[in-house]
Amino acid sequence: MTNSPQTEGIVPSRLDRASLDTHFDDLYPDLDPHEARVASDRCYFCYDAPCVTACPTSIDIPLFIRQIQTGMPEAAARTILAQNILGSMCARVCPTETLCEGACVRQTAEGNPVEIGRLQRFATDGLLLTNEHPFARAPATGKRIAVVGAGPAGLACAHRLAMNGHDVTVLDTHAKPGGLNEYGIAAYKAANGIAQAEVDWLMGIGGIEIATGTELGRDTSLDDLKTQYDAVFLGMGLTGVNALKLPGADLEGVRDAVDFISELRQSNDLSTLPIGRHVVVIGGGMTAVDAAVQSKLLGAEHVTIVYRRDREAMAASDYELDHAATEGVTIVTNAMPAAIHGDGKVSEIEFAYTQSGTTGLDKTGETFRLRADHVFKAIGQTLQGAPTVLTLEGGKIAIDATGRTSLAGVWAGGDCATGGEDLTVTAVQQGRDAADDIHAALSQ
Ligand SMILES: Cc1cc2nc3c(=O)[nH]c(=O)nc-3n(C[C@H](O)[C@H](O)[C@H](O)COP(=O)(O)OP(=O)(O)OC[C@H]3O[C@@H](n4cnc5c(N)ncnc54)[C@H](O)[C@@H]3O)c2cc1C
Ligand code: SF4
Repeated sequence: MTNSPQTEGIVPSRLDRASLDTHFDDLYPDLDPHEARVASDRCYFCYDAPCVTACPTSIDIPLFIRQIQTGMPEAAARTILAQNILGSMCARVCPTETLCEGACVRQTAEGNPVEIGRLQRFATDGLLLTNEHPFARAPATGKRIAVVGAGPAGLACAHRLAMNGHDVTVLDTHAKPGGLNEYGIAAYKAANGIAQAEVDWLMGIGGIEIATGTELGRDTSLDDLKTQYDAVFLGMGLTGVNALKLPGADLEGVRDAVDFISELRQSNDLSTLPIGRHVVVIGGGMTAVDAAVQSKLLGAEHVTIVYRRDREAMAASDYELDHAATEGVTIVTNAMPAAIHGDGKVSEIEFAYTQSGTTGLDKTGETFRLRADHVFKAIGQTLQGAPTVLTLEGGKIAIDATGRTSLAGVWAGGDCATGGEDLTVTAVQQGRDAADDIHAALSQ
């Protein structure tokens, strides 16, 4: 360790290797078989279970919990994966407190839900470890489908299509498949290479080829794909970022939170990753929380999230915000950035206090400054590189309930398309459902 949390500027190695390893280890370790049985015993196996309705992929939760309870974890995994092929990552990243566990009757009655997420992880991780693939391909149809984007939406779509006997080619700009599972999700939620392990396991179905380093718009066009394939699915996520239109926004030390997180996720040695002493994150969503928490875990002394509205309006859940606070992140609400100050590199950031007014957000007239050597912008991602021929709605590719875009033969899903909630699990659901519709269309 060459530096400490108090070293000025943006420097690597603020903490020793052992502390970094501990900080970025799995947030919640796997349940052991006994713990899983005990957790599954708490389920009432409700008829018309509200947890199932709350799950975007409609996993039969009481059934898989019953299968764990009766000593059949492989069957439980199959129940989960039949609905959600990325069940292992979803068990780690889903905001269960607002989805299945938030709806659990034991949450309503006692404020203590069945641990559905951890039980799902117990079942799916067990199957992943055996490296067995529980599904078989239908006889070959001779149809070929191009999937753009190897994120959760693209992978879920590709798997379901391959299962139905189609041949699938997945194109992705990145060097590795996985989308934000590989490049975005917080490191402590996806520890020990689980994102790549899950992709490798998913590929066990056969019939899927992944062409990494291949970009729609640069290496191929939608017209080419439409000519060469029987159908096209776009799962290209939101890869652009909103600009911070402020004086000083181009000073050294100001960067996009998603780029920082991506660099962190791809680092083989976190002790080499530079981080500021005073970190300020602008935004109120999951990206802001993840950038802030991981800055703190890297050894930044002071980390502050600043959001322009009140806490209720923050997109990050109470659970995520409480986690950030527990890690020592300060959360300031009702303040919007006014200017970034510094001589060549950022040294301070100035905020204006806000309050909700009748016409939106008003400045109160009061300002304050925070010391900052590292500023992360987490003010939202935008659609980039979508074929201009497609109809957009609210900045996303417009789709109907089955995932069809305005162009015949082209489907879309996940973050790049309308209708989802910008969550891993909704991307999986949209990719899977579009695949079912593509299959139906190609089977006519
Ligand atoms: C920092 C961060 C943290 C998050 N944390 C959580 C969380 O904890 N829980 C949760 O549920 N959700 C979380 N999310 C949201 C979640 O990651 C996304 O909703 C999900 O990944 C969307 O999946 P997708 O397949 O639509 O897009 P992506 O995962 O973004 O994948 C899109 C893929 O398309 C590729 N692509 C884009 N354009 C092209 C092109 N022109 N040609 C070829 N390939 C292209 C990209 O390289 C990428 O691999 C987080 C998001 C971020 C940014
Ligand atoms: S709502 Fe809770 S108790 Fe009922 S089936 Fe779902 S997990 Fe079990």
